[in-house]
Amino acid sequence: MKYSLKSAPLNLVVDLDGTFFETMGREEDPLYQLIFENRGDITLIFNTGRNIASVQSALTTGHFPLPDFVIGDVGASAFDFKNSLPIREIEDPIENRWPGKNKILELAQGLQGLIPQDVQQERRCSFYFDPLCFDAKAFAETVSAYGCDVLLSAGRFLDVIPRGVSKGETAIKLLMLYQLDKRSTLFAGDTLNDLSMFKLGMPAVAVGKSESGLIEAASKIRTTIISDKVGSLGVLDGLIKVGFVEKCETHHQTSSRKSELVMVYHRQPFDEIKTGGKTTRQLPKSPNGIIPTLLGLFSSNNPGSWVAWSHHDSNKDKFESHVAVDPVRYPNLVSARVPLSNEDVNIFYKKFSKEALWPIIFSFPSKIEINHAHWEHFKKINRLFASQAAAESEKNGLVWIHDYNLWLTPYYLRKLRPDLKIAFFHHTSFPGPDIFNVLPWRREIVESLIQCDHIGFHIPRYVENFVDVARSAFDVRVTKRSEAAPRFLHLNCALGVDSYATKIEIEGHSLSLGAHPVGIDTERIRTALSVESVRHSIKNLEQEIKGRMAVLSVERLDYVKGPVEKVAAFEELLDKHPELHGKIVFINIVTPPAPGMDVYRQTREKLDQVIGRVNGRFANVDWTPIRYFYRSFSFEELMAFYAVSDIAWITPLRDGLNLVCKEFVEVKAQTQRLGTLVLSEFAGASVELHGALLTNPFDSRSLTRGLMDAIAMSDAERAARLQKLSSIIRENDVTKWGEGFLQALRDTPTRKAAL
Ligand code: UDP
Repeated sequence: MKYSLKSAPLNLVVDLDGTFFETMGREEDPLYQLIFENRGDITLIFNTGRNIASVQSALTTGHFPLPDFVIGDVGASAFDFKNSLPIREIEDPIENRWPGKNKILELAQGLQGLIPQDVQQERRCSFYFDPLCFDAKAFAETVSAYGCDVLLSAGRFLDVIPRGVSKGETAIKLLMLYQLDKRSTLFAGDTLNDLSMFKLGMPAVAVGKSESGLIEAASKIRTTIISDKVGSLGVLDGLIKVGFVEKCETHHQTSSRKSELVMVYHRQPFDEIKTGGKTTRQLPKSPNGIIPTLLGLFSSNNPGSWVAWSHHDSNKDKFESHVAVDPVRYPNLVSARVPLSNEDVNIFYKKFSKEALWPIIFSFPSKIEINHAHWEHFKKINRLFASQAAAESEKNGLVWIHDYNLWLTPYYLRKLRPDLKIAFFHHTSFPGPDIFNVLPWRREIVESLIQCDHIGFHIPRYVENFVDVARSAFDVRVTKRSEAAPRFLHLNCALGVDSYATKIEIEGHSLSLGAHPVGIDTERIRTALSVESVRHSIKNLEQEIKGRMAVLSVERLDYVKGPVEKVAAFEELLDKHPELHGKIVFINIVTPPAPGMDVYRQTREKLDQVIGRVNGRFANVDWTPIRYFYRSFSFEELMAFYAVSDIAWITPLRDGLNLVCKEFVEVKAQTQRLGTLVLSEFAGASVELHGALLTNPFDSRSLTRGLMDAIAMSDAERAARLQKLSSIIRENDVTKWGEGFLQALRDTPTRKAAL
């Protein structure tokens, strides 16, 4: 019989002797199996009268699942097992109240029926007592004068411990300290010194053959579960009765309709517009061509699924789990939706992903906000995505998971469906281990990613970074390397590497890796440029620019893009080159982030300030040096800006790739106008776009020099560079990217253990 988690994550706080360690047969103990199989979802806390050293030596046999934390000495010790560190926040206040073992031994000296235990003890003193001749009540009064309590258990063990310290009290402190959700916690024990856990008012199971004193006292508490099953089976029984675990016959959910290809992307492939209680769906106003490209990969004959979240208010709507994407163009494709509340989206997407993961992905570790409760939520959402993908896929099907929001999905999915081919593509940058390892959850993330068969990144540098990160957590053997050049630049290029690992063996499996820089949809640009209103906009803009040299920047509001640094460099340029006054105009388009993204507020304020300062200093009645737009433009409107600008000044401090620079080049090529691309060396596209002028956005001199070089460039050089860039962009468009990635996945042999 198999068991699976019904709700996750969960915390299990278990007494050891008589409870967790009491098992019928260690090899096939179902509770241990459940924990081994769901290690990322269960926080295991041992809560014991043993001292920490004795727990550590019991665990060397390898039979037991290892805990995350150990509470020892009946609540007087707390230990972070994973990091092998005492938890000072809990132990120090206890230490301060402890009169010392010698004092207690002195008080106990000569008392009949009380024998000190000869084991190592911390912040408590243990005895054997004889209930027939020892007066425990009187002894409790004696030690009370020294700020201590007496705890009895199993009718023969007695502990003197600082007042108020107990297994229950320490457990609750630990849950709070590590932001573990109390509502998802089960306690388990079998003797009277476990009663304090039952008194917390949270579900607690007294396992079979528990001490009668515990049963008597705990059965009066509403949240107690009395199990007739002994030891670990009793704990499992408690988990089932409280609704955290269920029996299951099979590994994964079944569904009648199975897909050969499943995309797992955080957003749906259409925009949903709700008007007057009616919902209409239309193809997304996606800023880039990625979603249409991914849709194009679904065969028109075979069933396909797109797993994404959809907003669900459980009080209001009836949730539709599957809806058609576009019955005309993709008759066999459904959107399989994961219902998320506003709160879910807020924590998973707007907070955790942006506050904890984003600063690391883009190498701004000082901006990281570590919130362990949010991490638990992130795990929960990733698990939901995995369950949905597992339910959608046909046997041996392909699943393509997108981006860091779903970093843990491969882990859960692999458990549910070992048969699948799983691929993952990073739409962002990927940092090296010195940055990535700042994440407290680095091992869990890598452990999840290596469940894939193929992992894709934009450029070889990110592949190498990933391998280094993986190597810092696991043994890695590189079994294949590929040359980076000539497709990618490597010399004198900040993100260049000469070769990169394309196959590794890790944890007994083979994993293929690839560099797949996303391309653009050149046809979409052609269509946009043929629209009458776009041609009209081009004319209007040209009139407004009045023959001045136009420098264009288009970016989302994000500190990662370095918007403030860029404007400050432009100010420096105007300071140094008065001859440019009145002759140059900087069109600065900054698109606002989604509502509720607090992380960007400060950047916005600083940007508004610096732009105000520069325009205030240099503008005259006829000329405003910076034309600042804090809003989004449609893709078509943007085409007009690209067409009229002479220079694209794309200077992110860090960028996974950057599509704006590619779109600029393509518009220039299609409209047969000259243009120069100045591009940050820290944008992934810099290694691909031979012909761009590279600039270091951290160095204001390099920023201004890049711009000056572009301004001064001869038309012949402009044309030659543009031609080079344009042929790279056309050869590697978005269709080629999508098909290339899928082909790499298809070419990856079905997962099997490495030799
Ligand atoms: N974009 C747009 N309207 C705007 C600004 C940008 O449609 O007002 C599009 C732009 O055409 C490009 C995408 O947004 O396709 C930005 O992609 P990029 O990779 O440059 O930056 P990201 O925001 O993904 O970091």
